[in-house]
Amino acid sequence: MLHKIETAYNSGKEEHSKEIIREAVENYGRIAVACSFGKDSMATVLLAREVHPEIPVFSIMTVFKPEETFEYLVKMNELLNLNVTVYMVARDVPPVLKENGIEVRLLPAGRFEKDCSELEMVYGKRIYEVAPDRCCELLKVEPAKEAVKNFDAWVCGLRNTEGRTRKDYKEIEFRGLVKVNPILNWTEEEVWKYLEAKGVELHPWYNLVFPDGRRVRSLGCEPCTVPVYGWQEEREGRWNGTSKCGGECGIHTRRLK
Ligand code: SF4
Repeated sequence: MLHKIETAYNSGKEEHSKEIIREAVENYGRIAVACSFGKDSMATVLLAREVHPEIPVFSIMTVFKPEETFEYLVKMNELLNLNVTVYMVARDVPPVLKENGIEVRLLPAGRFEKDCSELEMVYGKRIYEVAPDRCCELLKVEPAKEAVKNFDAWVCGLRNTEGRTRKDYKEIEFRGLVKVNPILNWTEEEVWKYLEAKGVELHPWYNLVFPDGRRVRSLGCEPCTVPVYGWQEEREGRWNGTSKCGGECGIHTRRLK
């Protein structure tokens, strides 16, 4: 069975991805891999760790991530010996991260809290409902800038077929900070098969099947993630019901350095 699975994903692509990472590691001494603990991140981290077992791993977490994501982070960190560093705008470290000794760099939450209360006062709604771009800017883009400030390059799990905003990315991008996208040409199916072949447990949200057949295929913060049908693009389940639907948080569209 395992043999069958191993031949089901594209091992040629795997080798190509590793070659991209290998070259990047040779070219940029100060390089790290980003991990959101979604499926694409997990595949990317595995590939990067096979090429460079000591490559630093960082993760941008938010106060709106589901509890299951924190639990999965802890589990994968231990199983894969990731030694992850989490960056997060929050007053306190989430208990499960604290209890398990995860390294968390907390960033000041004052500006975020001020925006949240002002928006709630004016609109009676949460920041992610009325101003998702601002919410992502404060909770994701700003911590990402902090996370990469001592690196020259970072490795990400972007893929061209994930959604409308990801079709034009390149394997290597030069925008101040070099971005390396080793699984850019992988299909969703190839990612699932690769993780299965490697015996990596999935985030539990991926195993949920809703009564109408929809599944979570792209994982983000809890209020901004909904399941989608098989015929939809993966990222159509992100920021559903807002003008940002299927879009980007800004980490990959804004200059981080
Ligand atoms: S994904 Fe949603 S909750 Fe998370 S930072 Fe962006 S807008 Fe806020």
